[in-house]
Parts: sequence; C-alpha cells; structure tokens
Amino acid sequence: MLASYAAHPEQSKGRKFAEPASPLINGLPIRNVFQRDRDRIIHSTAFRRLEYKTQVFVNHEGDLFRTRLTHSLEVAQLARGIARTLNLHEDLTEGIALAHDLGHTPFGHAGQDALNACMRNYGGFEHNLQSLRVVDKLENRYAEFDGLNLTFELREGILKHCSIKNARELGDVGERFLRKQSPSLEAQVTNFADEIAYNNHDVDDGLRSQLITIEQLKDIELFAENMAIVKAKYQDIEQKRLIPETIRRMINQMVMDLCETSLLNIAELNPSTIEDIRQAPYLIGFSQAVSKKNHELKQFLRKNLYHHYKVNRMSAKAERIITELFNAFMSNVELMPEEHQFAAKENQPRAVADYIAGMTDRFAIREHRRLFAVEEYF
Ligand code: MG
Repeated sequence: MLASYAAHPEQSKGRKFAEPASPLINGLPIRNVFQRDRDRIIHSTAFRRLEYKTQVFVNHEGDLFRTRLTHSLEVAQLARGIARTLNLHEDLTEGIALAHDLGHTPFGHAGQDALNACMRNYGGFEHNLQSLRVVDKLENRYAEFDGLNLTFELREGILKHCSIKNARELGDVGERFLRKQSPSLEAQVTNFADEIAYNNHDVDDGLRSQLITIEQLKDIELFAENMAIVKAKYQDIEQKRLIPETIRRMINQMVMDLCETSLLNIAELNPSTIEDIRQAPYLIGFSQAVSKKNHELKQFLRKNLYHHYKVNRMSAKAERIITELFNAFMSNVELMPEEHQFAAKENQPRAVADYIAGMTDRFAIREHRRLFAVEEYF
C-alpha cells in the first residue's frame, strides 16, 4: 500500500554510523529502520522527560492539562492516521512526531524565549534545532556513538525550520534549506498534525482552566460551526460533553480537509519518488477555507490564552528562573554537575544551555531553589 513517493525504509539514506541490519525472521527484518528509530526515541531519557515539561500549563497547575508528552502522543496519533490515509510510511511519521519536541526547554515557549535571550551572543537557542541536537549528540546510550544514530529521514523530519547560517553547519540535513527543497511527505504530515493537535487541545485546556470561555469561542468559526452541529443533534447536552463532542468534530474537519487537499496536490504533481517530493513545493496542506479558519483560531488562542494575564505571570516566573540559572552557571561553572562541567570545557554557554534545556519544569524549579534559597542544601 506504500506509495512510490513515500519514504521507503530499504531506500533510506541511512545512519551516520553504519549498523548491522535487523535480524531476519522468515526472510523479513524484525523491524525496519524507521521502526528502530521510533523505538530508540521511546527509550531515550529526553522522551521520558517530556512528561514533566510544559505545553501551555506548567505541570503542577493540574493533572488534566496536556504535557509535552501527551501532546507528542496526540501528534503521533493524528500523524499516523493521516499517513495511513495517504499511503505514507507510518513508522517514520510516528517517529518524527514523538521526537519533534524533544528539544523543548522547561516552561514551554516562555522558557525557550528566555534561554534564547541568554544565548543571544553565543549562537542563540532554538527548540527545533535542539531536538536534533538531542538525538544527534546529547543522548548517551550507545557504546559506539553519541546520540541515537537515527536515519537521515527521521532527522530531516525533526528539522522543521532552520536559518541559512545554521543550515551550513548542519551538513546533510541542512542542505535542503540551502537548496530551498521540501522534506518528505511524512515530515510535512507531522508538521500539520502538530498544528491540528495543539490548536484543538489548547481550546480544550483553555476551557478547562477557565481562562477562555465558550462565549468567546462563539465568534470563532471553526468552533462555532461544529458546536452548532452538536447542539442540533443533542439539544440538552451538558457542557462537559459538549466541549469534547465539538472538538472531535473540529479535529475531524481539519484532518479530512488536510487529506483531501493533499491528495489533490499530490495527484496534480503526480510524483513517482521521494526525490520528486523533495524538489516540489509543500504538497501537504489545508484548503484555503480551512486554512483561514485555522488561522482565526490560532489568533484567538494567541491573544486570549497564550497571553492571558495569568499565563503571563507564569511566563514571567519561568523567564526569571531560566535567566537566573543561566547566569549562575555562566559565572561559576562549578555549580553544575560534573558531566556538564566536563562538557563546558569545550563550550561553556552551549553546555549550560544543554543542561537547562534538558530540565523538566519541576527539576528547574528545584534547581533554582537549591541555588538561591539559603535554607536549601545541595
Ligand atoms: Mg509540538
């Protein structure tokens, strides 16, 4: 069923360090290379830390909000479903989805912005680039190499965007940014699955937190039209069921539109190999109508949820914690655990950024307390 222009594991551009093929059973490999990539990601420490990293709400704010981990699982679920419909490689798509946020700092975007500001004279900090750094360098689980030694296709999928300057330094996965080429359809699908996931789950979490209301969302087309469908079908539905019934229809509408529009784009180009995909502009996308509605929803969330004053307060605290940790480790490298001091011999700012970026929310809060509260020991 795999389309000729999908990513085929046996045609992978391979891993940086050659490895023996998966053992065969009845003449077939137990796992294809993309399955092995996906499995390596699940076994990484960076993946486990996603459980305690902020998506929008800091972990201790409530048990029902999305974390980076549950967000990544939702992205994987959506991406895999879309990949199956489009006859793309599901394992690769799932792997990219599970890895796409590995480089996120504690405290979500507030954390990343603060770390980027700290790093402005040292090459900056960008979570997308950091996700690649985690799988290429920072995970230390294998005897023969640093990182997870993932396939080119998985690494290409992680690197969603990249400056020309960084692209020059990144070698193989940077090249497409210099040549203005596209990534595989599996990577493109994951980008959109990410967007569908967070726009919808942020509506859900926003309503749960009561920072946004159904009343406000009545002006947002995507929400309003789907809520009207639910209400017409179930007149007396209670709010607790109304919200998920509406959101599942929103997700469905976006996924359907994405699949239909993308299939039309693919049919029009009529590609035969993954190289045709790389030469073409993005083929995965929404129709103009849904793209507009999606944009309206994003704008709404940015204004009313991500910049709600209560979220701003948490962001300000996050910024303070990250900045103070960074300054403390920069002024005295010996405050860091030994393995990070060792890494700092090569490049202190980058080692400090790696240490901080790897922290979970609660670890960062504790580490800050250990450094700044006199009543705390070690
Ligand atoms: Mg994401």
